[in-house]
Amino acid sequence: MEPNVSRVSPSGLSAQTLELPSRVVGRVGDPSSGPTLIVFGAIHGNEPSGYEAMRSFFASLAENPVSLRGSVVGLVGNRQALAAGVRFLDEDLNRMWLAERLVHVRSSEELTGELEEARELDREIENILASATDRVYALDIHSTSGPGPAFSVFDDSLVNREFALELEVPMVLGIEEELEGTLLDYLYSRGVHTTGFEAGQHEDGQSIERAKAAIWVALRASGVLGRSGQNEVDAASRSLALSREGLPTLFEVRHRHAIPPDADFRMHRGLVGFQRVLRGEELAVENEALVRAPEAGLLLMPLYQTQGEDGFFIIRPVRTMWLGVSAHLRHWRLERFVHLLPGVRRIDGTGLEIRVDRRVARWLPLDFFHLLGYRRIAEVGRHLFLRRRADDLDGHGPTPVS
Ligand SMILES: [Zn+2]
Repeated sequence: MEPNVSRVSPSGLSAQTLELPSRVVGRVGDPSSGPTLIVFGAIHGNEPSGYEAMRSFFASLAENPVSLRGSVVGLVGNRQALAAGVRFLDEDLNRMWLAERLVHVRSSEELTGELEEARELDREIENILASATDRVYALDIHSTSGPGPAFSVFDDSLVNREFALELEVPMVLGIEEELEGTLLDYLYSRGVHTTGFEAGQHEDGQSIERAKAAIWVALRASGVLGRSGQNEVDAASRSLALSREGLPTLFEVRHRHAIPPDADFRMHRGLVGFQRVLRGEELAVENEALVRAPEAGLLLMPLYQTQGEDGFFIIRPVRTMWLGVSAHLRHWRLERFVHLLPGVRRIDGTGLEIRVDRRVARWLPLDFFHLLGYRRIAEVGRHLFLRRRADDLDGHGPTPVS
């Protein structure tokens, strides 16, 4: 029985109006009858494609209802920045989701700008998690300042990986290790299965289409879609696969160019996402000095806007056979034995958190620990701190409010 035929009330306002868009773009289904999918758009206000895609998606559902097991909710990230057409007003809303910041956000009354956005969004998320009775999934839609095909970024646990694989676009591993305080990182720590979707260039109309396709695919991947609506998802899945333009499935981040605070960073014109670059190739000018590619690879997210602290990334393809190898290795639960390796120490008794002495364990690259399901938390001097991704392990589910 699939009782939850959609009832939808798209409530988003046009971005052209001066009024703020509603926080909740749409909410359909019954969270007590299955999994929950949360879609986020415009966490960065100058990336409207996710917001527009949600509006179009919920309007489609209103016109042609489909059966659902569970619920789907669409949330606007940064309402004020979206209305103003900027990435953020005071600070990046996608770098604020850290425990100590949340304590402040939850306990303060008079908040403005992104602090106010974070508080509202946090309340909405808490309500959704509190009413969820099954798995919760989150799809966070972004876009880039430079042109390039769509891709996904996610914390590489096995469940997140399955979720991202369904999206059919190239998967980029390791970006989450470079950034602190992202919304998805926080949701992941709360037991939510997450993936980020980069839909293409901000102003490209195709970005909205790709983002809408990603929502349809996520609806099925999360198990929220019932028997109807499969044709929409098949079409969406095909269009995303086509948008790949023959690119491989899997990539890893090799380098992030961090822009120092207040630096004058200018990317060379005409660079696009996933284009090949050679080692030493000139890519940008920063404070009048040339910035060159430190190694050969593919360029990702060249920055063509003034706001943002990531100049560009260099990525490299990884053979997909490693996906299978790492899935097997993780099932063997090798964290129980990892401390037996020279230079590796347990921080807790379980091996879920470890410290690697890079001088002793020089022959163990970070990739080795990635395969076992570890993620880099910090690097202090010669020590690398790593944590095992929790949702590969048994008994992992939504964690209570702390
Ligand atoms: Zn973004």
